[in-house]
Amino acid sequence: MKFGGSSVSDGRTIRQVAAIVQERAQQRPALVVSAHAGITDALLAMAEKAAAGDADTNAIAARHRDVLAELCLPHDLLDPLLDELADCVRGVQLVGAVNPKVMDHLASYGERLCARTVAAFLSAEGLPAHAVDAWDLGLLTDSAFGRARPLPDEGRIGRAIALLEGVPVITGFIAKDREGHVTTLGRNGSDYSAALIGAGVKAAEIQIWKDVDGVRTADPRLVPAALPIREMSFDEASELSAFGSKVLHPATMAPAMSRGIPVRVLNTEEPMARGTLIVAGSVRDGRPVRGIAHRLALLLCTITAQRIQPQHVFLARLFELLSARGVDVSPIALSPATATIAIDSVLAESLLPELRTLGDVRCERDQALVGVVGEVGAMGGGAAAMVLSTLAESGVPVRCTSQGARGSTLAVVINDTDCRRAVTKLHERFFPTGT
Ligand code: ADP
Ligand code: ASP
Ligand code: MG
Repeated sequence: MKFGGSSVSDGRTIRQVAAIVQERAQQRPALVVSAHAGITDALLAMAEKAAAGDADTNAIAARHRDVLAELCLPHDLLDPLLDELADCVRGVQLVGAVNPKVMDHLASYGERLCARTVAAFLSAEGLPAHAVDAWDLGLLTDSAFGRARPLPDEGRIGRAIALLEGVPVITGFIAKDREGHVTTLGRNGSDYSAALIGAGVKAAEIQIWKDVDGVRTADPRLVPAALPIREMSFDEASELSAFGSKVLHPATMAPAMSRGIPVRVLNTEEPMARGTLIVAGSVRDGRPVRGIAHRLALLLCTITAQRIQPQHVFLARLFELLSARGVDVSPIALSPATATIAIDSVLAESLLPELRTLGDVRCERDQALVGVVGEVGAMGGGAAAMVLSTLAESGVPVRCTSQGARGSTLAVVINDTDCRRAVTKLHERFFPTGT
């Protein structure tokens, strides 16, 4: 059972979590927790400030002590870790610089502090629990600080958890590399931690508890009418995340899929709501579209090869370059001498000079990607035609489209400024109100 930042943001929500866990204690859950909502951002901002000379951890310490007070826990419960954090921050101030390795180390305090508070509260409520730092279970990663990738588990996690007594309250998001340095799995990485730990213990189910009643048919912040998806396949959930849906970390599905463990997304505020069940195999409910994802602030680059190069050499060099930088690109349109890719604008800045070594590069800024996920190709092109006609009728120009041969997702690139209108209109078309 993984509880995200908003599910453990304060005393009220942690009491809610405790009630949910108490009710399911028979099923011997292992818990994974994020930091209190906003704490990771605060820690990273504090690291930058410390490097600039201002090493003040008081606000972060006060927020944690407030939560302790709300839960009637001892006010000094977290002092050892808070003192350690203050020492680290003074170190950053002395050195006057931060790097991704130091950022990961500082960010790790958010989950470590929260896990201790949640475990202490569960114990105080009569459910013996222990805070566990994920590295003590053998959760190891490579050394790509800021977005580390897990190393094969080889049974470590299952063996370590089997030895624990009481309910383990495990830190999400963080791990260590083989040299013992703290790493993080990337922002919002505790979904991924939960899936890795769920796979490690061969859980009956991986439950991801959030502040929404499951994965919805579109981002509810953009489309308030978006509906909860009752059931979908691992493939569809992975595609929604890959095309920008912010509700689950994109890597979450892989460990669950590898062991065939169902993933359920549930709402801490409404524990009885059905949520979303994500399962192996395809889910058929007669709809051509499962959901609509979007991603903003992309750079659409068209690279035209130098004529002297054969196509396979050009493509190999392009993908080698992307792979060396660890950059994922969105839809790719290929013609004999050109490749069109959409890249996160921030990552693209440093990549552009290298792309130019491959040929002529033309870019359009402020682009958005909309992924229409489902059996879009299965209707003889009917659903794809509906997507394009809906966009045309809504006056949204499409810069580029892509669809795999299996036809599960149709991706279109449009202007950032058209994104809200496009997603809203597509949602109205595929999920008319009342259905
Ligand atoms: P947590 O930090 O609790 O794990 P997040 O805040 O990272 O959860 O993710 C949940 C949020 O994701 C929701 O509050 C919602 O605003 C947003 N969201 C974006 N797209 C979707 C979607 N398709 N379905 C549900 N929520 C979504
Ligand atoms: N606390 C981390 C973050 O804010 C990880 C998570 O919430 O999943 O990114
Ligand atoms: Mg989150």
